[in-house]
Amino acid sequence: MDKVYDVIILGAGPAGLAAGLYAGRSRLSTLIIEKGQDGGQIAITNEIENYPGQIVDEEESGPSLIARMTAQAEKFGAERVSDTITAVELEGPVKKITCTGGEYQGKTVILATGAHSRPIGCENEGQFVGKGISFCATCDANFFEDLEVYVVGGGDSAVEEAMYLTNYARKVTIIHRRDELRAAKSIQEKAFANDKIDFMWDSVVESVGGDEGVLATMNVRNVKTGEVTTIEADEDDGIFGLFGFIGFLPNTELFEGKVDMENSYIVTDDNMKTNVPGVFAAGDLRKKSLRQVVTAAADGAIAATQAYKYIEENE
Ligand code: NAP
Repeated sequence: MDKVYDVIILGAGPAGLAAGLYAGRSRLSTLIIEKGQDGGQIAITNEIENYPGQIVDEEESGPSLIARMTAQAEKFGAERVSDTITAVELEGPVKKITCTGGEYQGKTVILATGAHSRPIGCENEGQFVGKGISFCATCDANFFEDLEVYVVGGGDSAVEEAMYLTNYARKVTIIHRRDELRAAKSIQEKAFANDKIDFMWDSVVESVGGDEGVLATMNVRNVKTGEVTTIEADEDDGIFGLFGFIGFLPNTELFEGKVDMENSYIVTDDNMKTNVPGVFAAGDLRKKSLRQVVTAAADGAIAATQAYKYIEENE
């Protein structure tokens, strides 16, 4: 492929789409590569109530916000390709991005591949993902209609998604490793007022199991007393749900050894520049203090503006 794009954006979450919008508006030839659906974690988040201008009502959700971001980036000319990135060459004036379906070249690259859910970390977890264990309430809540559901975590995601799950499940129990929630007070208040939500404090899931190939039992250990409680699915149900919301891990494996990182997060300066000239990073994969849609979008805008400057200075 001979075409050299001004900017190639890896990932179409809020950071990548905001970068696409800004790059497009600067009349840079722009390509956004995304392997899955647009939006990353936001595409599977029901309520986004803290992105400026987004007021949660029946019409608004993560997916509707993302649909508008995608449309806006495309309106300003960003090209899109649906492909899986397998390798990147980031050094030199022309960077090469290899995908399953082809190869793309760019003068600059914006790394915006986001993050993924941290596994619960219990014994046998892998065997039951998709068979009782889930990391996405929006995707899977309806499978647990009138069943019992457990949610691991105590942050905003765990508590908000637990509330969402009460629309389907008979009962939702939040299992948290401490005796107080990390979630914002306003979110906590709603959860404490919801009589379908119970709590298991100071507790961690140690192991999961089930004879029929679906999740039907788990051991939960109290970290203060050491006591282990075995939870079994109701006989009539034969299964319960276990949702993990204990934070995220950055999707940066492909960039290992190619840009500076700390604990797998990409290190940038305030202008989203990595240590490699012409390579920028934006969003949740970056070392930063606040990972939100608004900060991801801001990162994307800055990265694209800096990519424009870089191209001007190097031509
Ligand atoms: P988070 O804030 O990092 O919370 C993770 C939770 O999981 C914490 O309660 C933590 O416990 C627990 N945890 C971490 N590792 C664990 C382990 N190995 N075993 C058991 N529990 C573990 O993650 P998040 O809730 O996904 O939120 C991520 C970011 O998105 C945050 O900045 C959050 O504010 C933001 N967010 C905002 C909204 C909103 O504003 N509407 C919604 C969702 C997310 P400890 O508390 O003991 O550390």
